[in-house]
Amino acid sequence: SANDSRLSAISAINASVPTSTTPTDPLSKIWATDVFNLAKMEECLSKNAFKAIKKTTQTGETLDPVVAEVVAAAMKDWAMSKGAKFFSHIFYPMTNATAEKHDGFVVTNSEGNAITEFTGSLLIKGEPDGSSFPNGSLRMTNAARGYTAWDPTSPAYIMHTPNGAVLMIPSVFMSWTGEALDKKIPLLRSNSAMNKAGQRVLSLMGETEIATLNSSCGAEQEYFLVDEHFTNARPDLIQAGRTLFGAPPAKGQQFDDHYFGAIPERVQVFMQDFEDQLYRLGIPAKTHHNEVAPGQFEIAPYYEAANVAADHQQLLMTIMKKTAKKHGMTALLHEKPFAGVNGSGKHVNWSVGNSTQGNLLDPGDTPEKNLNFLLFCGAVIRGVHKFGPLLRAVIASASNDHRLGANEAPPAILSVYLGDQLEKLFKDIQSGEIKATVDGGKMDLGLSQILTFTRDPGDRNRTSPFAFTGNRFEFRAVGSAQSVSGPLVAMNTMLADSLNWIADKLEASLKSGKAQTEAVIEVLKELMDEHSNAIFGGDGYSAQWHKMAVEERGLKNLPNTADALPAFLDPEVEALFKNTEVLSPLELSSRYEVYAEQYIESIMVEAKLVAEMATTTIYPAAIGYFNELSLALGSALDLEIELDNRVAKEVATAANTMIAKVAELKTAITKHDFDSIDTHMHFCANEICSLMLEVREQADLLEVLVDDTAWPLPKYAEMMFIK
Ligand code: ADP
Ligand code: MG
Repeated sequence: SANDSRLSAISAINASVPTSTTPTDPLSKIWATDVFNLAKMEECLSKNAFKAIKKTTQTGETLDPVVAEVVAAAMKDWAMSKGAKFFSHIFYPMTNATAEKHDGFVVTNSEGNAITEFTGSLLIKGEPDGSSFPNGSLRMTNAARGYTAWDPTSPAYIMHTPNGAVLMIPSVFMSWTGEALDKKIPLLRSNSAMNKAGQRVLSLMGETEIATLNSSCGAEQEYFLVDEHFTNARPDLIQAGRTLFGAPPAKGQQFDDHYFGAIPERVQVFMQDFEDQLYRLGIPAKTHHNEVAPGQFEIAPYYEAANVAADHQQLLMTIMKKTAKKHGMTALLHEKPFAGVNGSGKHVNWSVGNSTQGNLLDPGDTPEKNLNFLLFCGAVIRGVHKFGPLLRAVIASASNDHRLGANEAPPAILSVYLGDQLEKLFKDIQSGEIKATVDGGKMDLGLSQILTFTRDPGDRNRTSPFAFTGNRFEFRAVGSAQSVSGPLVAMNTMLADSLNWIADKLEASLKSGKAQTEAVIEVLKELMDEHSNAIFGGDGYSAQWHKMAVEERGLKNLPNTADALPAFLDPEVEALFKNTEVLSPLELSSRYEVYAEQYIESIMVEAKLVAEMATTTIYPAAIGYFNELSLALGSALDLEIELDNRVAKEVATAANTMIAKVAELKTAITKHDFDSIDTHMHFCANEICSLMLEVREQADLLEVLVDDTAWPLPKYAEMMFIK
């Protein structure tokens, strides 16, 4: 019976012996051994072929088909030497998952012998049946087919299984008419839009040599680990990735008893195994540590070019889940697996730069560098203000709503934290405190102030969703299960837009004969006059801020996905993506549809599970216990003993209320006549979600009433503390 599964899970875990730990290989021996990177290409390609592919990997320039042929042959030989018999284009559809279709290298010749083949065209282009991937309105206008194309700026690698290996080729995924059906294409396009606009600003600033600008990303990933025996006893963890029921443990996050001693070693063994696999794949895992909640951890690789980082981030999540399973655990990437304890996010650290000017979000130590920095930083401020709702929309999901909309930060209001010193600097520019007094082309009064600008450690304000942290911005409201691409696209694109705005202003000023410094201060002042409302250094969790942000600052508070996603349809957002050529209006609206459908679907899955688990697991446990109590009460009556019947009454009331709420929920689930996807989303956010909570409330009451040995579902304290 069901209640065996909870108790047997606990005994199984208690009886389990830790996975044996074999010492791991040194980093130098395993680093990037499974990656077909430039170093490996240099070993096996001719000088000319290598030069051509190197240029392509660094600039994204189209590869000559002749070179592609040579690269494909070398790649195949390398992959086969590693045991691969199959290859696959891996791509990143609009879901947050990855997709792949495996093909063998094998073909047979006329004698029936197996030979292997991997041509340049097979490397460059693949043809999965795209019809099962979400494509929004693009489904209507195009045949529901798509093709994948190799992205040579992200290296191919080997994925090992216990008895084989597959060559994986990072790819874009598009429709036959060229529309983006994935998360990679817009990221690549947003990089070039940002580069174009950045080049304009930098050349107006008198820079003569300007290398291609690229964005960088370092993502901190939070996650929970739960023993697999518990997962298997919780249909909600299996199907929804979070607990839909569960009373808070008596001691909550302060729980620190003997269970704890066992955690570190088992998790440590997992982490070492996990990280070794990442190293083999050339993913620079840099830090790992325990997080706030019990059973919660974090891993952060060192930052890389955004496009590669995005692919690596996706791969990291895959490897994490796989490795946890191998160690008898489940890695939960859901944003809020357990109510009442900290949820999981992904901090996306982002900067832009190139090899000639360096990191443009780094203040630097010369006045010239500082001016470039101020312009790029100002551009970010303007972006956050102008496109805050877009930033909110790209992190919107049913699961992330549990963090952003709830009383857990980061809040659903997008503001930007600069740190005291930098905030003051921008405010001084706005108020005219830093004047553009020009002395021989150099700024006079403000110069010293800008020069003495030192880096704020940046980590001071943890309540901000978007914070400057010394040489980068950290977008902290991203969900733990999400792809980092959406946020990166939004940041790069809003930056491109702002840099273009700045370039237009600078150009006009300089033409009219103004000195450079004067022109810069002037444009920054104007920028601050229009956009300083987005700057906030106070407590982002406080009720005062929520009130002030909306009422005085005119910022939007968008607590759930239904409120947030329509930002994709905003004419200004449409113009943003169209003008920067990152997404056409059709591509943009298709994204809105796909994300809205995903939202509705995930709420529906949860709603059905709530109804099912309440009816088939929780109700029987409650009634079974009620029956036992009734028998005892009956016997007591026979014996003329007065037995307190309160618990029996409470159980009956909670069980009745729960079943009545389940009936309401079931009716709500069947409702279909929505006039738009927007109404449908709001119905889910308001009606369905509330009903689910009302069912849960009663179930959680029952959990603390019913006989512990008869309770079927693993409890919070058990899942979080027993490892
Ligand atoms: P914290 O927990 O204090 O935010 P971590 O060291 O855990 O800091 O994570 C910081 C992340 O930011 C790492 O992935 C790091 O590589 C990345 N990072 C550092 N500098 C930059 C930069 N200039 N651009 C993008 N990411 C960066
Ligand atoms: Mg951080």
